[in-house]
Amino acid sequence: MPRSCTLCEHPKREEIDRAVVGKTSNLSVSSVFGVSESAVRRHKANHLPARLAKAHEAEEVSRADDLLRQVRILQSKTLSILLRAEGAGDLRTALSAVREARGNVELLAKLSGELDERPVVNVLVSPQWLELRTILVTALEPHPEALGAVLGALEAADGA
Ligand SMILES: [Zn+2]
Repeated sequence: MPRSCTLCEHPKREEIDRAVVGKTSNLSVSSVFGVSESAVRRHKANHLPARLAKAHEAEEVSRADDLLRQVRILQSKTLSILLRAEGAGDLRTALSAVREARGNVELLAKLSGELDERPVVNVLVSPQWLELRTILVTALEPHPEALGAVLGALEAADGA
């Protein structure tokens, strides 16, 4: 276990790992950091792969987080365009904003792990989509004709 490993316990652990991964020999790692050469060898063989995998995983997670943040920003912009277009009675723009927003919702659902690649239909019960739908219906309430057109278009898209 890493507990008994002088390298895992070492305060300069990260620096050591970088040296071990790089071209520095076990011997110079051992003399530079004051650890035994056999400990370096053991650490390299037994602990380093798991540590690297973990670091890689953390990197992946932070990348996904970043992506999630970007899609959320995109979504709030899309929704504001939708509301503005609706306010101006520009249904064409409103409809394309709806389509954009739908794509964002799908992406958000995928990224937050609510959805895998297969059941795309699940997006219709995702909280983000229901929220969007509510915003949409509320915004279009004063315009029954527009509301009917938008809902009709959405239903047609859902059936596709
Ligand atoms: Zn170790």
